[in-house]
This record gives sequence, structure tokens and C-alpha cells, in this order.
Amino acid sequence: MPEHEVVVIGAGISGIGMGIALRRAGIEDFVILERAAAIGGTWRDNTYPGIGVDVPAQAYQFSYAPNPGWSRVFAPGHEVRSYVEGLADRFRLRPHLRLGTEVVRRDWDEELHLWRLTTSGGEITARFVVSAIGAFVEPKPVDIPGIEDFRGDVLRSASWDHTVPLDGRRAAIVGTGASAVQIIPEIARRTAHLDVYQRTPIWIAPKPDAAVPAALRRLYARAPRFQEAVRRAATRGVEYLLIDSVVRHRPAVTARLERLLRDTWYRTQVRDPETRAKLVPDYGFGCKRPSVSNAYLRTFNRPDVALVTDPIERVTPTGLRTKDGTEHPADVLILATGFRLASDPEVFRRTPVRGRDGFDLAERYATERLASYEGVTQPGLPNHFMMFGPYGWVGGTWHQLVETTAAHVVRVLGEARRRGATAVEVRPEAAARWTGEMRGRLGGSVFHGRCATARSYYFDHHGDLPYLRPTSSAQAREAAASFPLDDYLYETRHA
Ligand SMILES: Cc1cc2nc3c(=O)[nH]c(=O)nc-3n(C[C@H](O)[C@H](O)[C@H](O)COP(=O)(O)OP(=O)(O)OC[C@H]3O[C@@H](n4cnc5c(N)ncnc54)[C@H](O)[C@@H]3O)c2cc1C
Repeated sequence: MPEHEVVVIGAGISGIGMGIALRRAGIEDFVILERAAAIGGTWRDNTYPGIGVDVPAQAYQFSYAPNPGWSRVFAPGHEVRSYVEGLADRFRLRPHLRLGTEVVRRDWDEELHLWRLTTSGGEITARFVVSAIGAFVEPKPVDIPGIEDFRGDVLRSASWDHTVPLDGRRAAIVGTGASAVQIIPEIARRTAHLDVYQRTPIWIAPKPDAAVPAALRRLYARAPRFQEAVRRAATRGVEYLLIDSVVRHRPAVTARLERLLRDTWYRTQVRDPETRAKLVPDYGFGCKRPSVSNAYLRTFNRPDVALVTDPIERVTPTGLRTKDGTEHPADVLILATGFRLASDPEVFRRTPVRGRDGFDLAERYATERLASYEGVTQPGLPNHFMMFGPYGWVGGTWHQLVETTAAHVVRVLGEARRRGATAVEVRPEAAARWTGEMRGRLGGSVFHGRCATARSYYFDHHGDLPYLRPTSSAQAREAAASFPLDDYLYETRHA
């Protein structure tokens, strides 16, 4: 017998949400393995200046656990972390947590119908595994030549060292993605000079942010139905912007939006026309996840902030040299250069996942187009679920994804229990049918337009778009509750 019925890997929002779903389904024999010393995932690791949600906090919470206390419309990161910690207490997950336990390998044992997980603390066996390792699994290795020679301080967005001084120093930040958009305005106030190295500009929209008045917070606490209505409206709005508008793409609407941003918003924010032109993306809105900020673009009006668009040639001991031969001195180098995604084969070269009949997840991702069933399971990996699998990201906010996926997992586990099955695997034809349908739905999306220069993580190394689930969240919820259970093959091992 395996040690546990279910092992969940990762204790971020996904792992905690899955743990809650298991408890609510009456499944108590599970552990959540977390490589770090604390829970919270993204919100534990990312503590850089300015960190906060880039969708309204009302949309960034579970439907069953609304928080009336968000201090701002776009809450700061530490509040999200406290929210996740609070969930672990409220839903009594602490006894299920095993912190400081990294899963370095997952092997399916065909004979015993169980998973053998090699962890930093020894082997753990489980009948079922739920992978909740997140979308952004680890920072991308930085491949700028000379970086090891730099004699100043190096800061990384995903593991910010708050003891490194910034006040009055010259800083260089590489990257202008979502994290950099939050960091740059915050640190520009403190540094003597800041060079911002931009390879690809990002579409920035105004941020409708404000402090939430105490009276409104009290109203949320007293009138949960009202808060639920606000949560739904905010969630629907995010879904419209991030999913509907790109999947059911109408070029005329996108063009109008781009014009509005470029000719109105960017124009009122950035004084210098040359700098402004460099900050406006040349790819279509939606090709890459846009961001919101009322401070980022304005920062480039400061005399002590420079936008550098010449490619970096190398890091030198005292700064950076660009391809045009200019030396840019720096005391602090900040790397905001993105993450390896859960669809990157390298993630699973480092932590192999070996399924049935020689299935190797790294090999599969490297050589074949990504596929899944409902974004949750893959043929070749029996008893194995992914909180965020190919074509899995639904609805625009992470909590919708977690609630939908967890419902799917719990349904399969329930059916396995009912049938006394010890191995459950999605049928290849079901996965092929579903994946084909998702790819087809992406046919009319924004991604088939002006995306070539976007360098968007929505595209994988095959040129496919396995990040987004191109359906509505309502459709996904309905599918999780009603997909044919016979799309899975159930087997029973007799002792
Ligand atoms: C800086 C930043 C800001 C973001 N802001 C937003 C936002 O505003 N809105 C939004 O919708 N999304 C945002 N996201 C996306 C965000 O990642 C998700 O919203 C959500 O937090 C993901 O939760 P998760 O639990 O799936 O993954 P994570 O938060 O990444 O948690 C995964 C956990 O698994 C653990 N883990 C990984 N591998 C192993 C292993 N092998 N063994 C054991 N443990 C392991 C990790 O340590 C981590 O604790 C942001 C992401 C980043 C990086």
C-alpha cells in the first residue's frame, strides 16, 4: 500500500486550494509537499519593492473564502501571502503540510499502481499525485555574458535581498515585464540614477487603483452577498480583458484600443516623444500579458532615469556595455528576466517525471506538441493531475483555475474510489479530441495576428499556445462537473 492516498506537490495558491478541495470531499489521507520553508509560493518568494496583484484583489480570491479586508483595489503582495496563510489555518491544512521537502523525481510504479516520489527527505509513495508547482516554476537562467565578473550587487526580482542598499546608488534593471513594471517606479525614487534595459516593450493600461475605505470593508464583512457580486463582476472583467478579447479577437476593436493607449494614455504619461515611441509596443495588444500602472510610464520623465534599448553586449565588472559600445556604470544590477514555465522541458529534466511504458515528461514536452485533457491530465501519466496543464489557464484569475481543476480532480478520485480502481488514466483519444478542440478555438485569436515581436510566454517552443484555455470559465466549470467519467480508463490491481 502507498503511504498516502494523495500527494500534492507545492503549497502556493494551487496546492492550498487543492488541499481544501480534498478536505471538503472527505479525503483526509493526503500531504502537501513544499520545497520552501513556508507556504505561499509566488507571494512568499516575490517581495520586491512595489509587488502587488495586477488584477483587482476582489477577483484574486477563492469564491468560498472572500476576504473583506483587502486594503487596496490592487492589493499589495504581503496581503496575498497573509490570505494564503489564513486559508491554511481556516481549513486546517497545517497537519497536512511538509515544508522543506522538494520533489526531485516522480516515478510511476506499474506493478503496485503507485507513485514513488524521490524527495529531499527520502522516498514518499502515493496512489495519486497532484502537481501544483505553479506556472512560473523557477527564474530563467540569465545568459548575459560577463555577469559573473560584476563587482557590484546583483538583485533578482524573485528573491529580492532587502539588505542591499539602493539609496543614492546607480542601478541597472534588465527586463521590462510585469515585475519590472512594479519595481521601476518604486526604486527610481531612491536611486541616484537608474538605467532600464528594454528588449521588448509592454502594453501598459491605466490602473484603477485606490485604497478601499474602511466603511466599504465593513460592508463587505457584513454583506457577503454584496461582496460576492463585486467579486463576480471583477472576475468577469478580468476574464473579458485577458481571455475573451484575445480569443474572440476583433481586429478593429484591438486597433482602436491600441490607438487609445498610444495616442492618449502614453502621450499624457511620457513627455519625450523619442522615449515614448520606444515604450510603445509594435505588436498587437493581447499578444503578451499586458500590465497596469499609473507610475511606470511617468518614471521615464525623470532626469535620473534612462531607457536603454541598444542590446546588451556584456556585463563588465563596473556596469554594462551595450552593442553600440557605450559603457553604462552601475553599482547594483537588477535582474527581472522572467521565469521557466511549467511547459518548459528543462523543468522536467531537472525534476524528471516518468510515467507508464517509458513515458518521460521532459522528452514528451521537448519533442511533441503539448496536449492534455481539460488542462488536467495526460495519457502516459496515470493517477497524475496537474493544477496548471497544457491549455489549462482559465478565466483570467488563478483562483478560478484552481477551483475548476480541483473539482475535476476530486471527481476522478471519487469515481476511482467508487469503482475500487487503483489506476486511472485518461484515454488518449479523449485527450487528443479535447486538445484538438482547444487548438481549433485559438484559430481566430489575436495570436495569429501581429505577435511576431512580442516574445510572449503564451507561445511555447513549438510555436503553440498551450498557456490559455480558450473557453469561458463558465464552460470550464460546467465541463469539470460533467465531463464523461469514461474518458478515463480505470484499472484495479488485485493484491
Ligand atoms: C511576481 C508575480 C506576480 C504575479 N501576479 C499575479 C497577479 O497579479 N494576478 C494573477 O492572476 N497572477 C499573478 N501571478 C501568477 C501567479 O503565479 C499565480 O497567480 C499564482 O500565485 C500561482 O500559484 P501556484 O500555487 O499555482 O504556483 P506558485 O505560487 O508558483 O506555487 C508553487 C509552489 O510549489 C513549490 N514547488 C515547486 N516545485 C516543487 C517541487 N519540485 N517540490 C516541492 N515544491 C515545489 C514552490 O516552492 C511553490 O511554493 C504572478 C506571478 C508572479 C511570479
